[in-house]
Amino acid sequence: AIRTRFAPSPTGYLHLGGARTALFSWAFARHHQGVFVLRIEDTDLERSTPEAVQAILDSMQWLGMQPDEGPFYQMQRMDRYREVIAQMLKDGTAYYCYSSPEEVEAMREKARAAGLKPRYDGTWRPESGKALPPVPANRTPVVRFKNPQEGATGWNDLIKGPISFDNSELDDLIIARPDGTPTYNFCVVVDDWDMKITHVLRGDDHVNNTPRQINILRALGGTLPQYGHVPMILGPDGEKLSKRHGAVNVMEYDNEGYLPEAMINYLARLGWSHGNDELFSREQLVEWFDTRNLTKSAAQWDPKKLNWVNAHYIKQSSNEDLAERVAPRIRQRQGDPDAINLQVVMGLLKDRAETLNQLADGAMLFCAPYTAASPELQAEHLDEAARSLLADFAKKARALPDWTTEALDALIKDMLSEHGVKMPKLAIPLRLVATGQKQTPAIGAVLAILGRERVLERLSAV
Ligand code: GLU
Repeated sequence: AIRTRFAPSPTGYLHLGGARTALFSWAFARHHQGVFVLRIEDTDLERSTPEAVQAILDSMQWLGMQPDEGPFYQMQRMDRYREVIAQMLKDGTAYYCYSSPEEVEAMREKARAAGLKPRYDGTWRPESGKALPPVPANRTPVVRFKNPQEGATGWNDLIKGPISFDNSELDDLIIARPDGTPTYNFCVVVDDWDMKITHVLRGDDHVNNTPRQINILRALGGTLPQYGHVPMILGPDGEKLSKRHGAVNVMEYDNEGYLPEAMINYLARLGWSHGNDELFSREQLVEWFDTRNLTKSAAQWDPKKLNWVNAHYIKQSSNEDLAERVAPRIRQRQGDPDAINLQVVMGLLKDRAETLNQLADGAMLFCAPYTAASPELQAEHLDEAARSLLADFAKKARALPDWTTEALDALIKDMLSEHGVKMPKLAIPLRLVATGQKQTPAIGAVLAILGRERVLERLSAV
């Protein structure tokens, strides 16, 4: 069975690049009815925090990428890593190295001076027939992996195609520090091995780690997963996507009123495609997902396109669903979402909204406490003629059998021809008095939503 994993380091919130990598691993596993594993790589004790772990879990939950297994935490697997290191020392695939950091630095310096890549010189690497130096007193060793020195290590990358490194370029990697704690590249290998990962999809900043991990996994006798390295996301200016470009924290998009469906759709298209399809559901993504359609070139973040995608999902949502999602945002704005029929308001606003926040802002026309228009606006638009029009409107509106958009539209139309005036002459004063504002959505619909009582009360106060 196909088994993929997402392995974030909890050193901060989940950023867009991480979310997209997770999405590819998730979609690939789902497509093959496989297993998606979440592994928290929390061995960097100085930079990992429980808040960051929570932020990652929250983001994955928000995006609907539930792991089938995990979260596993590397810090809880220390015994296992130590066990594997002990076994490797026994098997001779790893060895103790007593060189001090200063000595290793000197070796590097020497290599650099000779025009070579800085590297550990293999002093403590056991070879048949080679005598090792005497063990220095009072020095705790590190454990190094005995990397093959001949030949090359390569793989056929699912995204980038064949990649190969000369083994002579790969140092004998430290796999355990003097205090015995295992190092990053080593833990990843043991985990991918133990968790029987078949496909590793990750950011291409890890390409250089892959040959080291492959060699360690081979030394352990493990089966190699397939690797795919996803190119990074660039900002609109072509630079690596970062805070400079705006929000990179996934949850920030929740705050701003993006729908998780829209985020999934948009993120999937950053580096993956299915023909010319721009809009597709989560189910379609799963059905269509194939690593062959992942692109080699870096994808570019495009906030306008994200807004377009989000607008599509808003338009497509039911009024009921939108009302439910927008109500808390109205409360945040100190409005009362129960003051009116919010579902009707959603229906009125959703065709022109790009975010849930825009819907909430728009709904505040109905949900905020009423404040009368400014004296300036009143002076400008409520002259004698306007006031008498409003009085006549109030009289007729009181008598309307049904308080509906259609009935109100019809009444307004009749009044225009009766008084021989154009729409703005009546609509602007009506808007001003009914809502306190000069610009609103279609006046008939606005009055219908406000309700007869509220409208007549405000009219009578002019
Ligand atoms: N923890 C690594 C990161 O957050 C990912 C390692 C991997 O996917 O192999 O960049």
